[in-house]
Parts: sequence; C-alpha cells; structure tokens
Amino acid sequence: MSTISHPHSFSRYCMHCGQRLTTATPEGDFKRRLVCLDCGFVHYINPRPVAGIIPVREPDGHILLVRRAIEPQAGQWVFPGGFMDVGETAEEAAVRETMEEANLAVRDLSLVGVYTRPGPGVVVIVYEAIAVSDASAGHESLEVGWFPPHSIPWDELAFDSTIAALKDWAARR
Ligand SMILES: [Zn+2]
Repeated sequence: MSTISHPHSFSRYCMHCGQRLTTATPEGDFKRRLVCLDCGFVHYINPRPVAGIIPVREPDGHILLVRRAIEPQAGQWVFPGGFMDVGETAEEAAVRETMEEANLAVRDLSLVGVYTRPGPGVVVIVYEAIAVSDASAGHESLEVGWFPPHSIPWDELAFDSTIAALKDWAARR
C-alpha cells in the first residue's frame, strides 16, 4: 500500500490565484471548508479510494498476506492494496497492487466489502480473488505469507479495515 505522508496534506494556498486559503462556511454549505477569499475557490478535501485483494490459493484455501516494509504500520500484515490511479478501475488498481506488492497474479475478483477509515480519509474497496501464480515480496513488502483461514494473524494486522475485511471474508465462507 502506498504511503500516506500526512492524513490531510494539502496546500495552504489557492491553486487558482495563489492567495492564502482561509477557513469559512461557503454560502449554501453546512460545514467549514478551505476557501479563497480572493477568487472564491473552495478547496474540498475528499477521501481517497484504496483498492485491495484477499488472494485465495487453490486447492488449500490459504490466503496471501504481505508484511509491510513501509510506514504506516511497518512490520504488520495486510492483504495487498493501494491507492487508485486516475484512469484505472478499482479492479485494475487492486490487481496492479497485488502484482506490485506480492508479484502475484489473480483472477475472478468478487467484492468483499467497502471500508471507510474516516481518520486518514481513506475508503478501502476489498475484493476476493483466486491466486494463479507464485508470490514473492515486492519492494514495499518484507515478506509474503500464506495463511489458512484458522490462523490469520489477527493481532498483527495493519489497519482496522484489514481486520474488518478479513472478518467479513471469513464469515461468508
Ligand atoms: Zn483564489
């Protein structure tokens, strides 16, 4: 998963006219926003979508997790996933991240669920998919591991969304 340098990093200056932004409630709005008093531009801060995959190996049904090499949550386990790029679908992003982080090809994606992390402003879209190659650690991963469903490392998972998605995945099997 790509690094979140700061949960709500943004420019303090208007991207249109360069004046300093201030905080105000725009007319017709209901909450405070970053606005430019010079040109009227409203700088909305929206959550960013992350797409991930819980890869399942046949025939033993083990799932692949990667141990994160980078912050946040370095050293913890998570299924492959990362920020979507403009121009790709959520499915394409999930498949790409699985290849980048675990060198693993997958097929037959099916949606497990959508998980919001309001703090960092992230919406995590999680699929299940069938693993169709061997796996090895990508550059953002310390190692990869195949886990039977009864021995998922629940105490060493990276994020609340990781736990929630894996619980949902386990419950529907
Ligand atoms: Zn402006």
